Amino acid sequence: MDCRTVLKLNEQYLAGELPDSVLAEYLDHIENCESCMDNLMTDYSITKAIYQINHNQDFSTDYSKELYLQLARSRQSLVRKKRNARYRLAIALGLMALSIPLMAGSTYGKAKYYLPEGSKESLRLSYYGLVDEEDPVMQTIRELNDEAVIKLRQLSQGGVTDDGR
Ligand SMILES: [Zn+2]
Repeated sequence: MDCRTVLKLNEQYLAGELPDSVLAEYLDHIENCESCMDNLMTDYSITKAIYQINHNQDFSTDYSKELYLQLARSRQSLVRKKRNARYRLAIALGLMALSIPLMAGSTYGKAKYYLPEGSKESLRLSYYGLVDEEDPVMQTIRELNDEAVIKLRQLSQGGVTDDGR
């Protein structure tokens, strides 16, 4: 960013309307260019004095100190936003890393359900989607499993009817 661009952005910066994408470059220049800092100081003093007149406020005693504070705050807010973005990325990656084994686990999706005590057969069910414990469908299947298996066995042993004879 060159001095001419910085000069044009001063007003926008002082109004707090400089987008973050431009703000970083703008601050980099201001902090390293004496003449642009002087220009900004002049703009700041004039803008602030006009504001104070319009709002019946006393004039500031130290415009340069105020401006340095404002610049420091702008810099801080940029750093904070960058850090937050990094945290968000880290959290997203963490969640992805966590969910991959869960997804893999549920894709293999073969659960074994045993018959009531004393029997030899077993029944295998395959499923997709959620982890077993969190899958409402699987929960229901588990609850009905014993009942269903008894019924299946009765049917395979020669068409025994509902009443269990
Ligand atoms: Zn400059």
